[in-house]
Amino acid sequence: MLPPVPAPFPPAMDWFHCNKCFRQEGARFAVTSCGHVLCAACGAAGPCPVCGAACRHLPISSQMRPQEKLFFKSPAAIALQHLASITQVWRFQRAQAELLLASHHHAARRHREAMEAAKRELGVKERELESLRRENTELRRAQEQHSPACGGHIPGTHGDPTAPAAAQLPGGQVTTAQTYYTPL
Ligand SMILES: [Zn+2]
Ligand SMILES: [Zn+2]
Repeated sequence: MLPPVPAPFPPAMDWFHCNKCFRQEGARFAVTSCGHVLCAACGAAGPCPVCGAACRHLPISSQMRPQEKLFFKSPAAIALQHLASITQVWRFQRAQAELLLASHHHAARRHREAMEAAKRELGVKERELESLRRENTELRRAQEQHSPACGGHIPGTHGDPTAPAAAQLPGGQVTTAQTYYTPL
């Protein structure tokens, strides 16, 4: 808001005059309820000497109410004052909007960072899963290679070409068992 500038009231205005005697200089003027400006010499009370209407007289002074003073102010000054108010309102609301926008930017950045972290985590899990799959495949293959020994398959009947080699093992074990029981 612009600081109030102390100035004489009413300020110098080329249009200001007594509507009866047309003088422009003087200390005491009044405006009537019928809209006429009169100097103290032309009428301070009673009917309007310009139009004859029964009217009230309001002394023109700095004591007038703001809505009455307004009629004696420069329209340009009024416009500037309003412009200052409008600018202040606009700046306040823009600052508010910027705060909200900054909050949205901050939230968006946090979400982006969380998504990047989740993507990295997903990549790690996918590599772990791939590693486990390979390990599982290797274990299954190894189990298939050893399964004929456990199941007592007849060598040569298993589909696995490595089966006969593994199936030869129980024979040795049986021999060992017989060797163990022999002393009894
Ligand atoms: Zn006059
Ligand atoms: Zn009048």
